[in-house]
Amino acid sequence: MSDSYPHVQLLIANEWVDAASGKTIDVRNPATGQVIGTVAHAGIADLDRALAAAQAGFEVWRFTSVYERAAVMRRAAALLRERADGIARLLTQENGKPLAEAKVEVNAGADIIEWFADEGRRVYGRTIPGRNLAAQQMVIKEPVGPVAAFTPWNFPVNQIVRKIGAALATGCSFLCKAPEETPAAPAALLRCFVDAGIPPGVVGLVFGNPAEISNYLIPHPVIRKVTFTGSTAVGKQLAALAGQHMKRVTMELGGHAPVIVAEDADVTLAVKTAGAAKFRNAGQVCISPTRFLVHSSLVNEFTAAFAKQAQGLKLGDGLAEGTQLGPLANPRRVTAMEQIVADARQRGGQILTGGERVGTAGNFFAPTIIGGLDTKADLFNLEPFGPVAGVLPFDRLEDAIAEANRLPYGLAAYAFTRSFKNVQLLSQRVESGMLWINQAATPSAELPFGGIKDSGYGTEGGPEALEAYLNTKAVSVTGV
Ligand code: NAD
Repeated sequence: MSDSYPHVQLLIANEWVDAASGKTIDVRNPATGQVIGTVAHAGIADLDRALAAAQAGFEVWRFTSVYERAAVMRRAAALLRERADGIARLLTQENGKPLAEAKVEVNAGADIIEWFADEGRRVYGRTIPGRNLAAQQMVIKEPVGPVAAFTPWNFPVNQIVRKIGAALATGCSFLCKAPEETPAAPAALLRCFVDAGIPPGVVGLVFGNPAEISNYLIPHPVIRKVTFTGSTAVGKQLAALAGQHMKRVTMELGGHAPVIVAEDADVTLAVKTAGAAKFRNAGQVCISPTRFLVHSSLVNEFTAAFAKQAQGLKLGDGLAEGTQLGPLANPRRVTAMEQIVADARQRGGQILTGGERVGTAGNFFAPTIIGGLDTKADLFNLEPFGPVAGVLPFDRLEDAIAEANRLPYGLAAYAFTRSFKNVQLLSQRVESGMLWINQAATPSAELPFGGIKDSGYGTEGGPEALEAYLNTKAVSVTGV
């Protein structure tokens, strides 16, 4: 146990409580493998109380003016900023990412909440000229209802913020099943809303057995909308269950982002931006650049610079000064990296740097770049979700685009080129929800954030994100 890490409780009707059964789950620090704390494990009785609170909270919040909602959200965002240093330390202890990255995540969270608070005031309906002059026809937007959100451990704060921002701005109540592996930062985030004066039941937080909770919440009549971020495999199961019960759904799932470095690209820029982004959060990012498709005339220059950059990264405990690459969040990811590397070795791939676990305590894995593979290798098919990248040369841009589109994923893509013609071709032909050209990802609140194909549907940024939490009602009135 650690003095600096709390016992994390459930949040039901603005009260922090243990599970009725008293059951808890251990939380480990991925840098040491040691247990640092515990989190309450909700059972059905706790979920029933949380659902009743979410229903009661919805009845209050839906009839709270958008200006008052925005004021509460802005106060919560201000508290999040004020508490950012402490929350970031919790986040690093439970997730492993370098403290500087954790601080960026928490402060970006405040920015996203503020953006949604403001955007909520711009949810307009419309009036439509009637065929009968005496009739007035209106379109009204209404909150869809209590939301069940399932969020993962890679961005414990940010993954909730994108969902809670849109839900609260539109007048929905929000019941979150946050990650059991990283529970303290999510609890600290929701505490900001409670301390900002949100009415009881508008936000709730539970932890427990993910499958048990999703199987109970999704079909439950109180829940009107399901939003999930996580793996494609789990997303398909949850979307199917939501479909059986006709629930609205947003799914933000896996990716395998291609990075196309065209013949006329600025190689230094490509390495500095996409290369550096590869190892952010130890590669455990759904939009992590992963398949580096490099024009054959540039591949040696690119690979040498990329490997040099990876070798220069300082690996260590995220709380230690100067750490640039922390441990993986859990031992499952280390095993997954070892399997991908073993498959690459067996196929004659060239491990240009890394390729191994580092040390025996904690989940450290060296930043790894692999060349000399064909597209049958696991690395070019399974989402690595870790610090492993593959480099593959191409000769014609059309072939690189075909490779980018080959996988069932379609979340993020990156490209580097100086030619307008290539920009046009890439913009029109790359199958992805997000495409960043000559730059790193800028997943800011005002831009749509989401995928196509097996990467899911719906978006968690821009005005479309609010639309996902709204029902559309047509009201037609004829004068009497
Ligand atoms: P996983 O598939 O077991 O779990 C992924 C997430 O889904 C976790 O947060 C987990 O708690 C939750 N989950 C699992 N089963 C669930 C269920 N039946 N109901 C509700 N929630 C459930 O895998 P994992 O080992 O935790 O993570 C590895 C994989 O998950 C990665 O390879 C990656 O594809 C994906 N992932 C994606 C994101 C993302 O940002 N899109 C984030 C985290 C994990």
